Amino acid sequence: MVAGWFAGDGEDFRLLGTRCSACTSVFFPREDSHCRNPGCPGGDLEEVPLSRRGHVWSFTDGRYRPPSPYVSDPELPWEPYTLIAVELPSERLVVLGQAAPGVTVADLAVGMEVEVVPGVLHEDAGTTWTTWQWRPTEVTA
Ligand SMILES: [Zn+2]
Repeated sequence: MVAGWFAGDGEDFRLLGTRCSACTSVFFPREDSHCRNPGCPGGDLEEVPLSRRGHVWSFTDGRYRPPSPYVSDPELPWEPYTLIAVELPSERLVVLGQAAPGVTVADLAVGMEVEVVPGVLHEDAGTTWTTWQWRPTEVTA
């Protein structure tokens, strides 16, 4: 799993992006080399935690292997899961992520509020890969 994309546990879990000091654009996945805003003269990129909550922008049941940075062993059978694109209004970003376990497309609607939670991407004997997942805020764990 890519380091530095998220931090914290439980209620403190946050996605980490970077923000340009010149134009205030926020990037996720994080951009650490230079601002991607073509109209920006270029500023310093600072790490910022993103909002925990956003709204469903679109969703799909993932019947394909997601691209990097997801860990996906081509030798293993692919288990479809729900993918959600979530709009974070204050950052003006859309962040794609896996839905929390048990959340299906039937549970989702465009505009619904969701929050980011830590989730297990993959486990083997020695290692657990953590990722972020989206969960409707009205669902209690
Ligand atoms: Zn900029």
